[in-house]
Amino acid sequence: MTFESLGLHPSIIKALAESGYTEPTSVQAQAIPAGIEGRDMMVSSQTGSGKTAAFMLPALHKFAIQSDEQPAGGKTPNQEMQSSRSRGERPRFKAAQPKMLVLTPTRELALQVTTSTDKYGAFNRRVKAVSILGGMPYPKQMQLLSRNPEILVATPGRLIDHMESGKIDFSQLQILVLDEADRMLDMGFIDDIEKIVAATPEGRQTMLFSATLDGMVGNMAKRITRDPLIIQIAGSASKHENIQQRVHFVDDLSHKNRMLDHLLRDETMDQAVVFTATKRDADTIADRLNIAGFAAAALHGDMHQGARNRTLDGLRRGNIRVLVATDVAARGIDVPGITHVVNYDLPKFPEDYVHRIGRTGRAGRNGIAVSLVNHAEGMNVKRIERFTKQLIPVSVIEGFEPKRSASAPRSNKPGGWKPGDNRGGNKTSQRTFSKPGSAPRNEGSGFGKGPRTGSGTGNPAGAPRRSFGER
Ligand code: ADP
Ligand code: MG
Repeated sequence: MTFESLGLHPSIIKALAESGYTEPTSVQAQAIPAGIEGRDMMVSSQTGSGKTAAFMLPALHKFAIQSDEQPAGGKTPNQEMQSSRSRGERPRFKAAQPKMLVLTPTRELALQVTTSTDKYGAFNRRVKAVSILGGMPYPKQMQLLSRNPEILVATPGRLIDHMESGKIDFSQLQILVLDEADRMLDMGFIDDIEKIVAATPEGRQTMLFSATLDGMVGNMAKRITRDPLIIQIAGSASKHENIQQRVHFVDDLSHKNRMLDHLLRDETMDQAVVFTATKRDADTIADRLNIAGFAAAALHGDMHQGARNRTLDGLRRGNIRVLVATDVAARGIDVPGITHVVNYDLPKFPEDYVHRIGRTGRAGRNGIAVSLVNHAEGMNVKRIERFTKQLIPVSVIEGFEPKRSASAPRSNKPGGWKPGDNRGGNKTSQRTFSKPGSAPRNEGSGFGKGPRTGSGTGNPAGAPRRSFGER
């Protein structure tokens, strides 16, 4: 399967070749032809599976053909505004009339979609994409809108502001995309989304992307699409098989910090994201790591947009090796150099665990996701395991053994697990700690050379990885 065979415009094929994309991912192979046909779709596939191109390429294709058909010319609202000014008339801002709107849950994600769009549309200079985001200075937003971009990428809240003040007119909208629709609903954007959808033409093409199409997202998707093609990509990406996950139990904060430093010194680590529960912890830990000699930086929602952008740039350029972040701030970060994700604190919601570990193993690479867990938090690990339908092996690093033994025993009797039965140090668990083979301590011991399975990864000999579905 090639991008040519999907029938994309030559300018896009060229841009993809320059981006090093040799073949479409499975979600792209299914969504692009349907997108070109103009079909609505509801798509579920995991982070890192290439969804941005899946919706952006058919759109860019359409706009490339439209601009081939009509010669250059036509004034942007801004030019019209200036010429009316030169005629001595009172300048009037004309509402932007985008042809495509992409809604995303966070600013970072919106910026990423815009960056990818610029990349895919690099040989199509007449198609402009801009992001309209909370935290961006108002004059800047006005300036972006005055260029009358074909493609608008926005977070719902900020977009509503502009809609209500008449700065954006959706009457010419052809394509509506909801990216990470499940996250937008989780973040409480449902009313905003409904309002925005209601302001767009009935005849638009709607493409909705989500980690899941169950529940509320599925209901909304059905309401806003017409005869949608449903694409559900299961398979290795959704199980994150390229990401090696493990749990290390820790006794206390000092144990946790020592463990973190050890993990970050692993020589297979290129870049890492360390997740904390609070913004303050993100700052404190980033400071501490800097003092310890790591090129670390914090990323969280209290930072100004400019500071956030600088940090993300630093991460992309490799100047920052350890990013210490909170969930919302790190959502959607796509930096191929991230080899390790460390859950310094476990996430509040199991869904966030999936989003966190998806920061590594981008574009089919391998990654390692380590959770540092207090003994009392065994239940939270179980909730994550139930959500992902995968067991996360417990691993011990030589020299960093926890004082207490397993406090989250797992019975292999069907139905053996009950809420609350993780106390009491039951040693009959099938999932006991395993010492990482005979790996010499100075070679990173349990944190060996890249992701692998089998002995030394904490998977006890003779204990096959079982999914919850098998019980
Ligand atoms: P998702 O939205 O599903 O999480 P993205 O669109 O962010 O995925 O893409 C994940 C990564 O994969 C990005 O770095 C992107 O550049 C890369 N990518 C996407 N499609 C391809 C492809 N066909 N070949 C190679 N890399 C790709
Ligand atoms: Mg995406």
